[in-house]
Amino acid sequence: MKTILVYASTAAALTVLVIAGIMAFSKNTRLKQHLRAWILLLPALTFLGIVLRLTWDFPDKRFLYVLVPAVGLVVLLGFLAIRFCPRCGATLFNQNPFTRMKSCTHCGTQFVKGEAAPEKRIPS
Ligand SMILES: [Zn+2]
Repeated sequence: MKTILVYASTAAALTVLVIAGIMAFSKNTRLKQHLRAWILLLPALTFLGIVLRLTWDFPDKRFLYVLVPAVGLVVLLGFLAIRFCPRCGATLFNQNPFTRMKSCTHCGTQFVKGEAAPEKRIPS
């Protein structure tokens, strides 16, 4: 059983590293939006699995009523805080997930309702 746990946690850690590398270095916004769910859910599910395995023999499981919503809240805040610039593809981390980002911190693109605002051209 311990060997399976070691292999499973190693595979999960390597998967998270690969996904994190793609999130950091790729400019493909669509791919990163698909991987965002995995980079948030995989560690959360791994954490819950490890806690469940460690507390398997405990007769009282009421701590799960607090732990599962707390982990869900962390995942939700991660979804709200991470976004991707539609113009340059940069991964942006919003410090306050309850407010919308107004511009890209890498290229300066202004966001209008989550989309890149059209570029203002200087008339010649
Ligand atoms: Zn940008």
